Amino acid sequence: MSLQKIILSGPGQASLINEQTSSSLIPLLDIAACGICATDRKGFLSPPASMRLPLVLGHEFCGTLLSTGKRVAVWPAISCGHCCLCRQGRANLCADIQLFGLHLDGGYQQQFSLPPALADRAIFLEIPSALSWYQASIAEPLACVIHSLDMVKQSPASICIYGAGLMGRLAVRLVQYQWPQCHIEVIDPEPIRQISFGQGLGPEQVELVFLACSSAGAVSAGLQRLQPGGTMLLFSGLDRQHNPLTIDYNRLHRLEQTLHGSYGCLPTDMAKALALMAHHDLEVDDLITNVVDLAQVPKSLLAPNCRDEYKTVITLT
Ligand SMILES: [Zn+2]
Ligand SMILES: [Zn+2]
Repeated sequence: MSLQKIILSGPGQASLINEQTSSSLIPLLDIAACGICATDRKGFLSPPASMRLPLVLGHEFCGTLLSTGKRVAVWPAISCGHCCLCRQGRANLCADIQLFGLHLDGGYQQQFSLPPALADRAIFLEIPSALSWYQASIAEPLACVIHSLDMVKQSPASICIYGAGLMGRLAVRLVQYQWPQCHIEVIDPEPIRQISFGQGLGPEQVELVFLACSSAGAVSAGLQRLQPGGTMLLFSGLDRQHNPLTIDYNRLHRLEQTLHGSYGCLPTDMAKALALMAHHDLEVDDLITNVVDLAQVPKSLLAPNCRDEYKTVITLT
């Protein structure tokens, strides 16, 4: 049988190919949809050293399990399962983690398969019947936002979110859902994307800062806005050319502020994301602004999102 996939062979070089199914891999899933992430766009233009080329990109995918016919979303990694962090339930921090779309082939293809040694270690989350494939493809990015905001133990009175792309928008909706009293301000270079929710003007200083953009300037600006005792969630990685970043250590020390990293998500976060969407606690339909087929992917990877575009999803059905 011949299957279609997008192969990334070098910086900026992605092409649609037809390939015979490989007898050295175990086919697991007929992929139905896969989101195109900003991380994919970065990896496409300048593949990081850890990326195994040639490679199929994509870590936000869902489809039908060949073994049971169930509709599932895919946790986008395989962790070792036995190191200290894996045993503590922090598999996203496993040093031996293998990420789909980085170390292993991901979701820009019709069928997802794995080498026999890994085939029974992939983690699949069942998709509630109320959800479409497109909605299910948002489970992974939403789970990353859930994972990050879960690090905040008390409901904050105010939050400033830097970056109003998909992640910033999902953060707004999650904050509205779980902390309805919280004043939300969103800062973005596009004035049209800037918003503020809550009574009256936002506070000068905020309890929580959420970084959903890769600008070092936002880190500095966010730290200036952070109140004593406040927390900054380092949700987004920084553009490599923007490093190093200068941070006022003594100010953090004196104001007892916390910089909290957050990276990826856990399978439990994905299960929460699917349930939130299925119960209409959090709507995502208006954020899925572009749908493309596999043949359109190389062009789509080159096009940065416009200000009114949030998520591009590849449809494979
Ligand atoms: Zn992503
Ligand atoms: Zn591990």
